[in-house]
Formats: sequence, C-alpha cells, structure tokens
Amino acid sequence: MVTTAAPGERLRDRLEQAVGARNVRGDPGALVTYATDATPLQRGEPDLVVFPASTEEVAAVLRLADEARVPVIPRGSGTNLSAGTVPLSGGIVLVLTRMNRLLEISDADLVAVCEPGVRTIELAEAAAAKGLLFPPDPGSHTTATLGGNVAECSGGLRALKYGITRDYVLGVQAVLPTGEVIRSGGRLVKDVAGYDLRRLLCGSEGTLAVMTELTLRLVPAPESSGTGMAYFTDLREAARAVSRVLASGVLPVTLEFLDQVCIGAVEDYACIGLDTDAGALLIFGQDGDAHTIERDMERIAQACEAEGATELRIAGSSAEAAELLEARRAVLPSLSRLEPLTILEDATVPRSRIADMVEHIQAVARRRGLRIGTFGHAGDGNLHPTVVLDPADQEAVQGALEAFDEIFAKAIELDGSITGEHGVGIVKLPQLERQLGADHVALLRRIKAAFDPHGILNPGKLGS
Ligand SMILES: Cc1cc2nc3c(=O)[nH]c(=O)nc-3n(C[C@H](O)[C@H](O)[C@H](O)COP(=O)(O)OP(=O)(O)OC[C@H]3O[C@@H](n4cnc5c(N)ncnc54)[C@H](O)[C@@H]3O)c2cc1C
Repeated sequence: MVTTAAPGERLRDRLEQAVGARNVRGDPGALVTYATDATPLQRGEPDLVVFPASTEEVAAVLRLADEARVPVIPRGSGTNLSAGTVPLSGGIVLVLTRMNRLLEISDADLVAVCEPGVRTIELAEAAAAKGLLFPPDPGSHTTATLGGNVAECSGGLRALKYGITRDYVLGVQAVLPTGEVIRSGGRLVKDVAGYDLRRLLCGSEGTLAVMTELTLRLVPAPESSGTGMAYFTDLREAARAVSRVLASGVLPVTLEFLDQVCIGAVEDYACIGLDTDAGALLIFGQDGDAHTIERDMERIAQACEAEGATELRIAGSSAEAAELLEARRAVLPSLSRLEPLTILEDATVPRSRIADMVEHIQAVARRRGLRIGTFGHAGDGNLHPTVVLDPADQEAVQGALEAFDEIFAKAIELDGSITGEHGVGIVKLPQLERQLGADHVALLRRIKAAFDPHGILNPGKLGS
C-alpha cells in the first residue's frame, strides 16, 4: 500500500496554484525542520512542506497528491512522541498551523468550534474567559494543536476525573485522502446517525483523513481547586494509596506519581525542598466548590495515611498549590538535563498493577545498567518510564530500546496497553500486533484502505 512517488515539478506548480507559491516550500531549511518531531532517534526528510489555509486548500492538495500517489503527512505542532509526523517515505508534510481560527465559543450550547491549528491553551484560555472549562490538558498544551490532540486522542493531568480528548469531540469536518469533505457529528449531545466516524478519527494519527474543523464540548468551570502531596517509603505503599483513594468514593481531578529517580532529579533542578530519601511521591488534587474540596482532600489524606504516608502536605494557597504542581511539571525537564538524550515512553496498566509495573521497570533498569525514572498519571494507570543516556553510547541506546521492548511486553502481560496517550506512530507499530492480535490488525488495515485506497496518507504508520 505504501507509495514512494516523489512530487515532480508539475505537481509543485499545481500545489502552488492551489495554496499560493509562498506556502509551498522545498528549501533545505524547511525540509530539515520538518524531518523530525519531538520523538528522539527518528527522522525522514520530506520533499515538500505545504501550509494550507482552508478546507478547500487541504482538499485540493490531497486530490493532487492522490492523483500523483505522493505521500501526505498531516502535522500540527510536531510535539508527538511516537514519530507520527516523521515522513518515512518522503512526500508532502501538510502543516495545519495556518488554520488557527477559533471560530466560536457558545455558552448556550457549551461548545467551541475551531480550526485544527488552534493551540490547546488558546482554547482553554478563551473558554475560561467565559466561565467554561476545556478539560484535556496535555503537558504540551502551550504548543500542541487541537488537531494534533484529537488525532492522538491526548490525555492530561485532569483525565482521571474529566476523561480524555475523545470525550470532548462532538463533531469533526475532515478531508478524505481522495479529496472529499465529510462531517461527522456536530454540536449535538445526541446523534447516532451512521457509524461514529468522529470517534474513529479520534486517535487515527493522521492516517485516515485530515481534520479541518472541530466542534468540542465544554463544561462549566469549577469554582476552585485544592492540591496536596504525600511521600511514601516505597512505591507499593503509594500504589495501594491510589487504590484506597479511588475506593473511598472520591474521584480526584489529579493523582500523579513520581518514583525516587524522578524526585531526586526534580529536586536537583527545581530546589523546591522535596524529600529525596522518599521512595515515591503522590501529588493529588480536587476541584469543585469549597465544601467538596475540603471533604475530598481530607478523604484523600486519610487514605494516604492509612497506607503509610510518611509526610503529607496540603497547599494552603494557590501559590503553594502551584509549587506542588511544579514538582510534577518539572519532571521531564529535570530528567532531560541529566544526559543529552531522553526517551520518554508511555504504557498503561490496570491501576491495581501499577506497583508490579514500576517494580518491573526498575528491575529492567538495574539489570541493563540504565537510568530510568518513572512518573505518570497514577490515577489512570498511565506510566511514563523515561530513560536518559548518552546518544554516543550506541550500546546503551540499543539496550534502552530492548528495555522498552521488555517493558511493553510486561504491560501487555498485565492486561495493559503499549500506549495510553502518545500513540502508535512509527515507534510502537512493531508492538501493535502483539497487543491487538493479527485479526484485529488486519481489520485496521481494511478500514485504512476504505478511507485511503492508494495509501497516501501518513504511510508506514497505523493501518500499514
Ligand atoms: C513536553 C511534552 C509533553 C507532552 N505531554 C503530553 C500529555 O500530557 N499527554 C499526551 O497525551 N501527550 C503529551 N505529549 C505528546 C503530544 O504533545 C500530543 O500528542 C499532542 O496532542 C500532539 O499535538 P501536535 O499539534 O504537536 O500534533 P503533531 O505532533 O503535529 O501530530 C500528531 C499526530 O496527529 C496527526 N495530525 C495532526 N494534525 C492533524 C489534523 N488536523 N488532521 C489529522 N491528523 C492530524 C499527525 O499526522 C500525527 O500523527 C507531550 C509532548 C511533549 C513534547
């Protein structure tokens, strides 16, 4: 199915006619810039980079590329961590950041309508100004686009209580690889006319269609929020505390986990007074009215104490809350400064298996002599084992890749998933069949072929 045709001069002329000459780039600067995304160790140079400004322009580009059998790789801000926008077989990188209009925020219908290039934070801020909340908040929210969020079905710190991006997608307008424009869903809360294609496009990683307009659900903003943290001597206690919190009838907005490697790295970087002797740290939060927050924070604290928390802190002010959350936000930059290369991975297990998973990761790290810190969304069972190393040490790089292979195998063995939020992309494609089975993968390929008969859209990724 993968096409390898390169765009010729005639195609370039026609693309320039469709989107304007200045929005078609083939200069070395552009080709190098769009050869990579936020995923380490993966690159592939495109032949052209095209910046459309409307649905009609996207449709024109796709029709031309389909006719010429040239690959097209949709791209937002390129922050994905699975090499989803790396042009494996060249072709056109289709950058959607010029389509960045926030078209409407309706407090009557509780929806936002926007183009895919709007950044997540722009929508969140515009919604907040109207007393509304757009809950999905990936760590990359200042840079990532909503189109990228939907295509990856991103999660964030609030997923435990509010769900993930998929739960906020009411409607999608998309251009098929052959150039037809479809709409699925809209501003309706209830709509069961036809297959639920908007759901299928959510998490489709740019392999089925290019989304050009999104209708997203908003909710009333909570009055206020509370934040706290609890230290544990070992991670089994922390994991038991997570289960006890969830069994206590409280659904926290945030329930995040850091292991000892991460605690040490954050303290070394941010100097915020963390206890580096602790074996694990939980950061928790709740939002709602003042009464709910007080009651739930108390219950969470009790659950942590019952499982042996050695120290508890509840923020008394928003400045203190921001400081506690800083411990979580600082994990990635803190780990990244330890070595030149950081590989951040993503796996999910049932919440009751978190301790088994983290112990397995630690055992793999010890056996292979790797430095792996694990942090993540404990409330969702979604962990981010992160290895830091020197890329010049090829043996260590190979060891890290093999370590992740072992970690993903363990996640599957524990009834988990090879990815909770970062997607399959290029990086996890070899693992996909291990999790889903051959029949399931064959069905994905048939779905891909129905959308994209000539295999031009993001080839070498999902559905390949
Ligand atoms: C520091 C950091 C923190 C992060 N934190 C989180 C986190 O907390 N949670 C999380 O889930 N992820 C996180 N990520 C991963 C990443 O930010 C998300 O996957 C994000 O949604 C990608 O958005 P983007 O605009 O950068 O998309 P891109 O990386 O440009 O593209 C991602 C995928 O979407 C496709 N695509 C993009 N736009 C469209 C479109 N309009 N139509 C069809 N397909 C399209 C692309 O082909 C690609 O497959 C993080 C990344 C970094 C670097």
